[in-house]
Amino acid sequence: MHDDRSLVEARLKRVLDERIRPAVHPESVPLSVTIWTAPGEPVPVAEGLAAPRSPIAVGDAWGAPWGTSWITVTGTVPEAWAGRTVEALIDLGFDANMPGFQCEGLVYRPDGTPVKGLNPQNQWVRIASPAAGGEPVLLHVEAASNPVILDYHPFLPTELGDKETAGSTPQYRLERMDLAVFDETVWQLVMDLEVLGELMAELPADGARRWELLRAVERALDAIDLQDVNGTAAGARSHLTEVLAAPAVPSAHRISAIGHAHIDSAWLWPLRETVRKVARTTANMTALLEDEPDFLYTMSQAQQFAWIKEHRPEVYARVKKAVADGRFVPAGGMWVESDTNMPSSEAMARQFVHGKRFFLEEFGVENREAWLPDTFGFTGGLPQIIRNAGSKWLLTQKISWSQVNKFPHHTFLWEGIDGTRIFTHFPPVDTYNCSMKGSEIAHAARNFKDKGVARRSLAPTGWGDGGGGTTREMIAKAARLRDLEGSATVRWERPAEFFEKAEAEYPKPPVWVGELYLELHRATLTSQARTKQGNRRSENLLREAELWCATAALRTGHPYPYEQLDRIWKTVLLHQFHDILPGSSIAWVHREAEATYARLAAELEELIGAAQQALAGDAAGGRELVFNGAPHVRSAVPAGGACPVPATGAGGGCTVTARDGGGFVLDNGLLSVAVDGDGLVVSAVDAASGRETVAPGARANLLQLHPDFPNMWDAWDVDQFYRNTVTDLTAADEVAVSVSSPDEAAVRVARSFGSSTVVQTLSLRAGSRRLDIDTEVDWHETEKFLKASFPLDVHTERYAAETQFGHQFRPTHTNTSWEAAKFEACNHRFVHLEEPGWGVALVTPSTYGHDVTRAVRATDGGTTTTVRFSLLRAPRFPDPQTDQGVHRFRHALVPGAAIGDAVREGYAVGLPERRVTGSAEAVRPLVELDEAALVVSAVKLADDGSGDLVVRVYEAGGGRARGRLRTSFRPASAVPCDLLERPWDGTRGEVAVDGDGVTLSLRPFELVTLRLTPSA
Ligand SMILES: [Zn+2]
Repeated sequence: MHDDRSLVEARLKRVLDERIRPAVHPESVPLSVTIWTAPGEPVPVAEGLAAPRSPIAVGDAWGAPWGTSWITVTGTVPEAWAGRTVEALIDLGFDANMPGFQCEGLVYRPDGTPVKGLNPQNQWVRIASPAAGGEPVLLHVEAASNPVILDYHPFLPTELGDKETAGSTPQYRLERMDLAVFDETVWQLVMDLEVLGELMAELPADGARRWELLRAVERALDAIDLQDVNGTAAGARSHLTEVLAAPAVPSAHRISAIGHAHIDSAWLWPLRETVRKVARTTANMTALLEDEPDFLYTMSQAQQFAWIKEHRPEVYARVKKAVADGRFVPAGGMWVESDTNMPSSEAMARQFVHGKRFFLEEFGVENREAWLPDTFGFTGGLPQIIRNAGSKWLLTQKISWSQVNKFPHHTFLWEGIDGTRIFTHFPPVDTYNCSMKGSEIAHAARNFKDKGVARRSLAPTGWGDGGGGTTREMIAKAARLRDLEGSATVRWERPAEFFEKAEAEYPKPPVWVGELYLELHRATLTSQARTKQGNRRSENLLREAELWCATAALRTGHPYPYEQLDRIWKTVLLHQFHDILPGSSIAWVHREAEATYARLAAELEELIGAAQQALAGDAAGGRELVFNGAPHVRSAVPAGGACPVPATGAGGGCTVTARDGGGFVLDNGLLSVAVDGDGLVVSAVDAASGRETVAPGARANLLQLHPDFPNMWDAWDVDQFYRNTVTDLTAADEVAVSVSSPDEAAVRVARSFGSSTVVQTLSLRAGSRRLDIDTEVDWHETEKFLKASFPLDVHTERYAAETQFGHQFRPTHTNTSWEAAKFEACNHRFVHLEEPGWGVALVTPSTYGHDVTRAVRATDGGTTTTVRFSLLRAPRFPDPQTDQGVHRFRHALVPGAAIGDAVREGYAVGLPERRVTGSAEAVRPLVELDEAALVVSAVKLADDGSGDLVVRVYEAGGGRARGRLRTSFRPASAVPCDLLERPWDGTRGEVAVDGDGVTLSLRPFELVTLRLTPSA
């Protein structure tokens, strides 16, 4: 037979586009439309409903960027439509593509109850079925004219990303505003033909099934009278019944579909808009759940539930009911879908604490899965945190975005730095926005790497990013794909049902050890430096606030600020969302974040100050106490305690002398640092070992400037070719001694380059083996990457970078494509390199991005390992002014540092001592540890208000450690807990209470949470 496939396929496309789809709504009458535009920010619903309207016509422009317009549509159902299904069709001027990235609406009844959300893929509102003739129609639409930021020519700089620069030009024109008859039979025919046509295109041309589908489609098309589609649709469908009834083969891939809208908590829209996005999508989804009995929907991010609860209680009531019915499924159990590279140990833990607690308290639901479909890489510290939160599964699809290496598994055990293993699934559909297209379903089945030993995968189904969710069309297609020959099977299933079945069918999955590095979006470790510093500052202040408030509460009865800390934590957690902390949001989001962090800092400083004053006693006492909030003894001040200021000049011995050939030598007896005439570090000798740190012939603290214009995703990406071009910033405007005292020796270096200036102070303090480098940059570059380079005389194949509750190793070489792809990576507070017996650390309070490379020197055959911190970038999309202006950074070089020194100095640089005048002799710490490798991560009162003390400790060196946690009170009990402070028997180490303390024996990187109940 002749091959006429292309002819039939082209016929199917044209007839669907031009005749059948338009016949879904065969008759329509226009609605009357009026509008009121709110003068500024969104107004409460009652105000929007009551505001006076002006007439507007289809074709008229509306909607300044970020504006809100209240649109009212009125009409009457024609008498002739009695008994038929009638819908309103509201097209606000949508572009069919990318729902959630343009204008959107939420429809209300006259009484203010929300009906459903409107977006390009969801323009209908059901009026009645069957309708009564003459029925009046009155609906209000709260329409948001959010501008298009990510256009068809993406990544162009735009001023639209902040209401302050976006202007007032109307962004949209009203399109269709009609009442229309909905012909369900024609709509079902469209669904039949779409499913069969899309399946057909995926089947092999030499297989019988493809031809059976082709002939059935052809017979259906033959049966349609193109002048009377509505009258002939039922007959056409009858030709498709047989091919739609043929069941899937037994080995067919099994897809667990779950309705979903991955809603970014802020991104190309501000936080306040996400509140409304969530309301629109959930209004839609709860309505769809009522219409579709098989459908199940899942939503993650407790914060988004909390927003609806606060701002749209009517929608929340519908969500609560649907959750109780088991149809609307809370997913994940984190406060937001955060970044996981940068949040501190405690912040990562609290994401789960606050997320899971919200779901438990609101719905009585405890999730066992972590749900992070879109996060930019996963640290080796995360598995232990997931497990300690009482969860055991992880879902993400993001690693499919990696540029170079294809991940070898879709279902596997992921092992973290401490040995915890988490059953992990990467949906092979490679998207969190599955729309039940035949190409997606076939891709999932073909792409699945675990065929032969496993059979099922998960498909999050619905429009995401900017919201929208699942559509009735997706549900209709899923119903046809339930058991269809040639296709994977599709069932609506909850995430937990999927994971249980996937685990059961795959008892020995493969294991992946260590971080899940995303080979993309590497610049998110650097972009928007102020947001990143705000996050780290907040994390540090929260640690101090909890510590001092708990100490003051137990010692003096000072009230513990439970509610305030809860609220501040949730704000910090929200800003760790995977487009805020990574710096990939519009200018508006980062401008607000900076202001929010400043507000939180002021609030936390006040809490800390009040608690310390309560502990120090009456300021009139005149005794100055030094408080140490770091987890290690510092200047003889105990960790978590305070004592009088040590006598000045303790140690002393700092000198600055002129260096032969220009520059200066700073010395404190422990470290001797030579700065040359260009202000660069040419030598740093550790006196204890006599060892030189800087590679021969090289200069450290060298600032380097690269062009940085990635191929895509400007704020997110740095592409490897950036390294091909570099300018060393060696010219100095000034190199001068800035401090010379027995306690401190410092040199100030000023430079200018491009349109920017930088001033650095290199200082050595008495008794410290740390060279502190304080940098102030006034940054006015465009599409540049600023690095600070430290070429070190160290021969090593790997280095350690701090992550949550420990550190992870990465190679210094590029033997394979996997290592070469990690050309920019994340650390928390230190990078550490060592040869047996001697090491060096670079520490930083707030720089996350770095790279490490190696070279062998021609001169002496030694190895130079170069660590470079990533200071600043200047991408122009989505914020055209990213990182412009003044920034301050601190970095430090610690020669002769073992891993324990790196841990200690990492804490110390971010947690300065505080001085308070009072009457107390000293403040004894609530808890003290006698083993340096055991580090206190948090001291706080239990969240349940019982007055119990919660102490979290981890093993920080990567070895085994045994020590004693001595308490300043007699504990009646010390109970190992999970992160939610519930008794937990999952601790693998040993915890024994005796007398005034607890003996702890922890495995490498193990964390343990203890609830200590003071004796009465
Ligand atoms: Zn996202």
